Amino acid sequence: MRLILLGPPGAGKGTQAKLLAKRFHIPHISTGDILRDQMRASSTLGKKVAGFVKSGELVPDEIVIEVVKNRLAKADAKCGFILDGFPRTLNQAEKLTTVLKQFNIFVDLILYFGTSPSVSIERLSGRRVCKSCGRNFHLINMPPELEGICDSCGSELYLRDDDKEKTVKKRLAIYQSQTTNLINHYKATGKLREISGDSEAEKVFTQLVDMFGRESLN
Ligand code: AMP
Repeated sequence: MRLILLGPPGAGKGTQAKLLAKRFHIPHISTGDILRDQMRASSTLGKKVAGFVKSGELVPDEIVIEVVKNRLAKADAKCGFILDGFPRTLNQAEKLTTVLKQFNIFVDLILYFGTSPSVSIERLSGRRVCKSCGRNFHLINMPPELEGICDSCGSELYLRDDDKEKTVKKRLAIYQSQTTNLINHYKATGKLREISGDSEAEKVFTQLVDMFGRESLN
């Protein structure tokens, strides 16, 4: 199964992508996670993108396209993948189509998660991320057992720079400015399906699995 997950920051794409990846045994490819891993490792790529990521700006297309191309070339992506956070611009979408053609594969569905800006802001400003392993928590919806400490590895949790309210608003504005073109592009393929990202994660996941049944995807 090959999926693209679209939607504003805080729509729950990452949560659904993780659940889907586990259920269908395919990799969850999040460009945001890859870039943050590189930043944690202080690699050349990490240093190059840190300014953009921390301030909520989009990383230049040519950089993220290269990241995705390299990731899709890995063996575990041969039988399927879930792209989360990519593409974000029409140019990225077009380049992705070209890359997939080179690999002789196609996307099954594009899932578009809609959610209101207030829900996005509430979710992101309450999100806390582990400094070491990157696991996500939420102060209200998914609190860690010990305040400020990761349940998985015991490291400190922090609020991402780009999850601060001012930066979230900027990310949402950037998302809005790119969305119409991207959505129209994928609507034209007949493979776009809209899902409300406002419900609880388990409900959204059940809806998705039902949808895959109807679409004969497994
Ligand atoms: P995310 O975790 O998907 O919200 O991404 C966090 C940040 O990583 C974004 O605000 C951008 O700075 C950068 N980023 C992730 N994916 C992309 C992309 N497809 N194009 C440009 N920048 C991206």
